[in-house]
Amino acid sequence: MEENRKAIILGAGIAGTAMALFLEKIGISSEIFELRSREETAGGGLNIAPNGMNVLAELGLAEEIIQSGCPVHEGIFRNAKGKRLAKMLFTDLQKFPQPAVSMKRQTLVDILRKTVQTKNIPLYFEKKVKDIVQTDDGKVIVSFDDDTISIGDLLIGADGINSVVRKSVAAEIQPEFTGIISHAGFISRDKLAGLTDREFRNINFIYGKNGFFGFSGANDKELMWWTNVISEMPWSKDQLKNIHVDEEKEVLNKQYGNYSFPVSDIINNADSYLRINVFDVRFLPVWSHRKIILIGDAAHAVSPNSGQGASMALEDAMLLAKLLRDQKECLSAFSLFEQERRPRVEKIVLEGRRRGEDKVVVNGFKQFIRETMIRIFINLFGSKGNDWLFSYKIKW
Ligand SMILES: Cc1cc2nc3c(=O)[nH]c(=O)nc-3n(C[C@H](O)[C@H](O)[C@H](O)COP(=O)(O)OP(=O)(O)OC[C@H]3O[C@@H](n4cnc5c(N)ncnc54)[C@H](O)[C@@H]3O)c2cc1C
Repeated sequence: MEENRKAIILGAGIAGTAMALFLEKIGISSEIFELRSREETAGGGLNIAPNGMNVLAELGLAEEIIQSGCPVHEGIFRNAKGKRLAKMLFTDLQKFPQPAVSMKRQTLVDILRKTVQTKNIPLYFEKKVKDIVQTDDGKVIVSFDDDTISIGDLLIGADGINSVVRKSVAAEIQPEFTGIISHAGFISRDKLAGLTDREFRNINFIYGKNGFFGFSGANDKELMWWTNVISEMPWSKDQLKNIHVDEEKEVLNKQYGNYSFPVSDIINNADSYLRINVFDVRFLPVWSHRKIILIGDAAHAVSPNSGQGASMALEDAMLLAKLLRDQKECLSAFSLFEQERRPRVEKIVLEGRRRGEDKVVVNGFKQFIRETMIRIFINLFGSKGNDWLFSYKIKW
């Protein structure tokens, strides 16, 4: 790409910060604008799969991520009585160079933002977009409601599921509610005396008649947990934010209180309780318009049930930077990016929806079928079935 170009990046989440770091490697300057305040912390736990860790390794951050999170070995599937049904490898260092790591979303975001700042990449907080304009001479102008503007040669929309940049690319597409409210949180490991180190260092998927409950280590001292509650409508901001802990415990205990250890101990003693409406974004007809492109959740929000949201955002950032480096024209880089990424991410969006649908409340007979299917299919194909996901590595 021609020299002395400047990119405007909206969103300092995972895609936006990783994007700026890769652009810095190839000599394209950037400015990042984030809607929220610097202090605001958000989110539960997530897993970075070996494919996402490959990208962090290219940024020189793999070791810090491993130290700050919890590398996980296997996915262990159990029924509500605690009986083991199946296992699936998440870390296989003979096949994939990096482990899978569970961690707090905020820890990952903090590490990326800190790295951005050590590279002196400008990062501004509390910037609300007022308008986005593309000029005839190929510039993009973003104006903010504090009456400041930024002018760039390209705009990268990394502003997540409720992207405002998407309005400039595919205005007709709205995020869709998946029918799931994710209840999640963290608990200190020392509150769960009976938990083995093996359980802590695996991702535990519990499937009972009353639905799904999952947990895994999030760092040396804390465990992250999550579950799905089915709802016809997304919850209001008020319902999501104003959680009365006793009520929350009652709701969760009603559904999962009879599951084997450590489920009710987690519900009753958690240090935090979060609720997240789970949305995804149906396939966008296009991901770019002239000098504006979308990456990460803004382009293809995947349900957390896929376990791939952060990894997809990281892969997007690395591939787009590589193409901007190798292609003369920004527009050909955008077109190749979409061509290469679309089949992979759209397959994952569908897989995320399917995994969400698997986690619902069922009757005794359906639970018997579900357990049988998990036993057969995960044991036979689970680890191998993830190869196409985990082995993806962009050659820089
Ligand atoms: C608050 C929050 C909590 C989350 N919690 C979880 C979780 O518990 N588990 C999980 O698996 N995934 C969670 N996710 C989603 C997960 O982080 C993403 O799926 C994934 O990391 C993709 O990264 P992304 O950078 O594309 O999007 P995100 O990580 O969503 O980052 C987008 C960033 O853009 C900012 N932004 C939004 N609108 C604008 C705007 N108009 N202008 C500028 N900036 C803007 C957001 O504040 C955010 O910092 C959460 C996302 C958010 C925003």
